[in-house]
Amino acid sequence: MNKRRIAILGSTGSIGTQTLDVVRQHRDLFQVEMISANNNVELLAAQAREFDVNDVVVCNEARYPKLCSLLEDSGAKVWTGVDSLCSLVRSDNVDIVVGAMVGFSGLRPTLAALEAGKIVALANKETLVAAGSIVTRTMKEHGALILPVDSEHSAIFQCLLGANGNALEKIHLTASGGPFRTWDKRRISGATAADALKHPNWDMGAKVTIDSATMMNKGFEVIEAHWLFGVKPGRIKVVVHPESIIHSMVEFEDGAIIAQLGCPDMRQPIGFALSFPGRISVGNKKLDFAELGSLHFEAPDTDRFPNLRLAYEALERGGNAPCALNAANEVAVAAYLQGRIGFYDISRINEKCLRGLNFAANPSVEDIFETNAEAARIADGCIN
Ligand code: MG
Repeated sequence: MNKRRIAILGSTGSIGTQTLDVVRQHRDLFQVEMISANNNVELLAAQAREFDVNDVVVCNEARYPKLCSLLEDSGAKVWTGVDSLCSLVRSDNVDIVVGAMVGFSGLRPTLAALEAGKIVALANKETLVAAGSIVTRTMKEHGALILPVDSEHSAIFQCLLGANGNALEKIHLTASGGPFRTWDKRRISGATAADALKHPNWDMGAKVTIDSATMMNKGFEVIEAHWLFGVKPGRIKVVVHPESIIHSMVEFEDGAIIAQLGCPDMRQPIGFALSFPGRISVGNKKLDFAELGSLHFEAPDTDRFPNLRLAYEALERGGNAPCALNAANEVAVAAYLQGRIGFYDISRINEKCLRGLNFAANPSVEDIFETNAEAARIADGCIN
């Protein structure tokens, strides 16, 4: 079999480094053609040398000279800026694009990859939240394929492989509940970014870890599931499952529920997206049911975690509403990480931006970029 040729957008982040760890275990199956990062040129250069990467992109132009000097005499071609990224993902020597960038910044290169008919292993859920209709339409128009890397969506995708064309009745999206699952509202309101960054089960980047603590992440995953699987919002149920062993479930008309289980380790969904439809070993811990003993479930609490309610509201409104919510949240989470605002200011800002939105029912790509900028401005105004 020919090696699958991979481009990784965001190779120095949590998903990017775990993708490279899977590749490291299967050098006979995969060749990394291109990697990119925003700023971390030291790690980027080390990855380029280890994996013998052809094209290396740093998005921040100020870091370009440093990357050039680090990769001098390596044989790798060095680039900068998002335009380079967009043209490289279209290249004929790329089969699979791993979308592991954080936030709205992943939208343009993801669209470029889909326009070129690539397989996109998508971890960057904000792309689907901000522009779900455009992203899925582009995929269909160009015969491209999105394979979910988000663990819940990979689970749903894996469960559906046995569906035999039977329609989905419901999706049960599991949520760990995050670090504040058992805290009361008063205690949560005083939670710092350091408290929020102690996620009980998953090892993730800072943005998604804060989103996980506010349950914005689960809200975004509801929107993501809607676009990936074509299921109406009312049929996507969130259930809190603190052990994160069941990664999500699908339910059929006859009440049969199929679940995908495993120890929480992102290398499983990453490996499955890279090797699909085959499966490969990824070096993860295997589940021991006797050791596990029991699993727990509870309803989500939208009073303590209002972001989950806002996500359903944005999805029901449709159009550019989820884009505005995502933009507000990116600005608010960045401010929270800097200690400039409190925990519940994040959902307050999100709600304000969602209400103040200049609604567009069928946004174009330009409208989406405009909404993103406008909502970010409103959010900035709330913070200052
Ligand atoms: Mg997830």
